[in-house]
Amino acid sequence: NNSTVGFIGLGNMGGPMALNLLNKNHKVIAYDVMDAAIKPVASAGAQIAGSPAEVAETANQIITMLPNSSHVQEAYCGKEGILQSAQKNSLLIDCSTIDPVVSKNVANSAKEKFATYVDAPVSGGVGAAKGATLTFMVGGEKEEFERAKEILQHIGKNVVHCGEVGTGNAAKICNNMLLAISMIGVSEAMNLGVRLGLDTKVLAGIINTSSGRCWSSDTYNPVPGVIAGVPSNNNYQGGFGTALMTKDLGLAQQAASDTKSVTSLGSSALQIYRLLCEKGYAEKDFSSIFDYISKTVEM
Ligand code: NAD
Repeated sequence: NNSTVGFIGLGNMGGPMALNLLNKNHKVIAYDVMDAAIKPVASAGAQIAGSPAEVAETANQIITMLPNSSHVQEAYCGKEGILQSAQKNSLLIDCSTIDPVVSKNVANSAKEKFATYVDAPVSGGVGAAKGATLTFMVGGEKEEFERAKEILQHIGKNVVHCGEVGTGNAAKICNNMLLAISMIGVSEAMNLGVRLGLDTKVLAGIINTSSGRCWSSDTYNPVPGVIAGVPSNNNYQGGFGTALMTKDLGLAQQAASDTKSVTSLGSSALQIYRLLCEKGYAEKDFSSIFDYISKTVEM
């Protein structure tokens, strides 16, 4: 397959995803606002565009991987946005985690230009982006989903149809709200155990074979020295940033307000992650909540 794919947003996730498309013999035309993000993708053979609109002039299938709702709005609906020059019947796949309401609005704007927009946020993190093992949660009509799957299967392992446009992001923010809560929970339990005199590996081993077991403990443990190769073992660098997790928790709270849903722990998790950003952890991995808790005598 050598069809041209447009790729906008070449950060921690988008960079490796674009590289995988190139590795699988797709032509890629790419754009990012930051030169540093463009370099590796350009070196690997991608053509570089000067704006999202320029990407859309060349490619009729485009993937976007941007930080949040405002960036997506800008890249699609801005002055030099994709929709300025989107070709008829083009397929626009937004993999960013954003407000489901914004996904629906952009989808409507795309429809006016006779283009199709689906939301397809991902789960799996940077490792899965590099290894092309991401899970995509796709919101759109069945046939739009099938079209999106054609491309996404080259850069992910699971491509799941969630329902109409916006439901991909709905699934994603529910998952991440739970992830934040479990990461805080594991950090509190591990810190308490350390203060009670337990060895961290012994305690993690017990939790991981007991009813407290969860991904935050057995795959991504926040305590340095428990699991090799995770951010907690690398001064909380790389991985999924605290600022991005805080954004996702904000999206979950917005959605909870919209639907009048009770999310007491989700709301507390947002406050805790907001505080963590304030304390200088914004760019560190979200498992750094353990570092903060373990250095805090009184919360
Ligand atoms: P990132 O900040 O590393 O990358 C975003 C990129 O978008 C940057 O290179 C930035 O320069 C670029 N950008 C910003 N505005 C732009 C614009 N208007 N036009 C073009 N490029 C623009 O973020 P990331 O970690 O790659 O995350 C991207 C999305 O994926 C976020 O919504 C995040 O919540 C989600 N996500 C991240 C992870 C993870 O582990 N990092 C996992 C799952 C989902």
